[in-house]
Amino acid sequence: RRKKIVQECERLMDKPENIRNIAIAAHVDHGKTTLSDNLLAGAGMISDDTAGQQLAMDTKEDEQERGITIDAANVSMTHEYEDTNHLINLIDTPGHVDFGGDVTRAMRAVDGALVVVDAVEGAMPQTETVLRQALREGVKPALFINKVDRLISELQEGPKEMQERLLDVISDVNELIRGMTEEMDDIEDWTVSVEGGTVAFGSALYKWGVSAPSMAETGIGFPEIIEMERNDQRLELHQQSPLSDVVLDMVAEHFPNPLDAQPRRIPRIWRGDDTLDIARQMQEVDDDGEVVFMVTDISMDPHAGEIATGRVFSGTLEKGQELYVSGTAGKNRLQSVGLFMGGEREEVGHVPAGNIAAVTGLRDAIAGSTVSSIEMTPFESIEHISEPVITKSVEAQSMDDLPKLIETLQQVAKEDPTIQIEINEDTGEHLISGQGELHLEVITQRIQKNQGIPVNTGEPIVVFRESPQQESREVEGVSPNRHNKFYITVHPLSEDIVDEIRLGNVSMDMPELERREALQEAGMDKDTSQNVEHIFGTNILIDDTKGIQHLNETMELVVEGLEEALEDGPLAGEPVQGALLRLHDAKLHEDTIHRGPAQVIPAVRDAVHRSLIDAEVRLLEPIQNVRIDVPSEHMGAASGEIQGRRGRVDDMYQEGDLMVVEGIAPVDEMIGFSSDIRSATEGRASWNTENAGFRVMADNLQRETIMTIRERKGMKLELPQSIDYF
Ligand code: GDP
Repeated sequence: RRKKIVQECERLMDKPENIRNIAIAAHVDHGKTTLSDNLLAGAGMISDDTAGQQLAMDTKEDEQERGITIDAANVSMTHEYEDTNHLINLIDTPGHVDFGGDVTRAMRAVDGALVVVDAVEGAMPQTETVLRQALREGVKPALFINKVDRLISELQEGPKEMQERLLDVISDVNELIRGMTEEMDDIEDWTVSVEGGTVAFGSALYKWGVSAPSMAETGIGFPEIIEMERNDQRLELHQQSPLSDVVLDMVAEHFPNPLDAQPRRIPRIWRGDDTLDIARQMQEVDDDGEVVFMVTDISMDPHAGEIATGRVFSGTLEKGQELYVSGTAGKNRLQSVGLFMGGEREEVGHVPAGNIAAVTGLRDAIAGSTVSSIEMTPFESIEHISEPVITKSVEAQSMDDLPKLIETLQQVAKEDPTIQIEINEDTGEHLISGQGELHLEVITQRIQKNQGIPVNTGEPIVVFRESPQQESREVEGVSPNRHNKFYITVHPLSEDIVDEIRLGNVSMDMPELERREALQEAGMDKDTSQNVEHIFGTNILIDDTKGIQHLNETMELVVEGLEEALEDGPLAGEPVQGALLRLHDAKLHEDTIHRGPAQVIPAVRDAVHRSLIDAEVRLLEPIQNVRIDVPSEHMGAASGEIQGRRGRVDDMYQEGDLMVVEGIAPVDEMIGFSSDIRSATEGRASWNTENAGFRVMADNLQRETIMTIRERKGMKLELPQSIDYF
């Protein structure tokens, strides 16, 4: 049977009009995994009675134990709709916000997103996040409202109440979509509706579903459902109106095929020259064109080794091809090409444009790489909404494991670009930085359990930032031989510009003219935007000098000094953000030998640090939005947990039979929140956090925090001179 399915998938791969590339995305616990299993069972990929227990999509051991989905897993299946067989490539996405980077990458590979919302809970914070990620990538949404059985069995609702509640969910989701698409002029009305067939309801647990077309066909509507649910005739309900058919019909009918999607999506996700052949080939899904493959996920297979999964936008992948990998010098040779089916990879002869492929041999690729048969402008960098805010040290218990640990850490960084790894071969104490406590915990568990490397881990440490608060005076940086001088000022960058850099809308990779325009749009004056020399983190170097001899050939060293200064800020050696540095003037020695790295780098580094100090540099701490859902009797305890953590409660309101407490708190104080809130509310609270950027720490906490960090890092226990303003 499996062999037949594989053959059918291979046949359909060559018919882009019958292909649908989709992701299922949801707030945690809303039922994405249960629904995915249903679809796989419906398509004959796993047996019907094990669906739900088998958790085919949660293939990693730690995911099954935790019951949450972490890595985006992939599977291809077939579905017959209106006498035509369709190939449906499904990418699963993680539901926890700590894994946001994976969701965005999955969205790059697909053209439609099935958003699952729990009928009882309604749209939740992650529902909004996944919708935003989908729409940004030009991915069309459809809605599945799950757990409708609970409205009947637990809440005892009748047809009218049920209908009202479902309409509320739909209008909430549409309000979110409308707000997000208003500014996108290339996207038509992408709101969802029952009449339009882009909404389905049902129960993933009991495997039944309905939609407007299914009701018209089977005659099974709300009264029948209520009747059958109440009388324990769920099996019949499943047989008469099977969820997988209803949802897969919706997918086949309403999600665009690659031929319809790529002409619209390519201009959104690729900023190269649109007059090139390759631009046309990608828009036309040309399987005879140059190969363009965007890697969205890297995973390890114990037998095949490193597997790169992603979307083929043009050309045809075949074993033995030599392909360029963006950001690296050489070429990699494809060792095998395949498709994922029910969590297993099947090798096939070729994979043409419009499909999701899983290949081996791309040893230089990371999640996010553009892989192609000719050199080309890579795809837009995938937006990572949050930067690492928390760090943990890992150390192998036995020195013998050191090489294996380093290799594993490098692998982890390849798989998940939102993770940053700092390897220290001298001390053996490596640092992993990520999106939150859970994110790091999962990674260290993976090293310990899956790789069998016993490790010691340190306490999680929050990553701070340093940022200037006002304009500095001009500072002179002098080289050790006193023959080279640099004149620098620093200003705070506006929040708009910092956001644009963070979102990847302004970068050194883009054409200069486009960068200037983007910066001017964000509020930078014209002259300044024309003199941008370098962008590092969220900081910009402006070269305001004119006609200085030898400066051009020295600029590389200036940039190096600047980067060193910004990587380790003057207060506590934390990264600097939001600084605009201006180089006004420079005096350079005639002779190259007297203006080498040992002279230029320290001069610039010193000037940058002193100008930051003069600009009243301050420590910034990461903060999180916190949302807690609790029964009303625990509301006080829940809001106390936020307030007690230097936090602020912004809103409290009733939703269904629960109270919602919303607020904000520093990441530092949120460590250990999970067990504290559990004991404060007798385990009745469910909660969520979302990184919300950085804010300046209160003045009275600055000195103490700076000293704590300096002590931890073994820095001198005094503030740099002239920092006497606290
Ligand atoms: P995910 O985190 O979105 O992947 O959610 P899961 O599929 O793991 O489901 C979370 C929980 O909700 C599990 O305990 C499921 O059994 C349960 N669940 C999923 N779908 C339904 C449903 O339609 N009805 C009910 N009553 N429970 C469901």
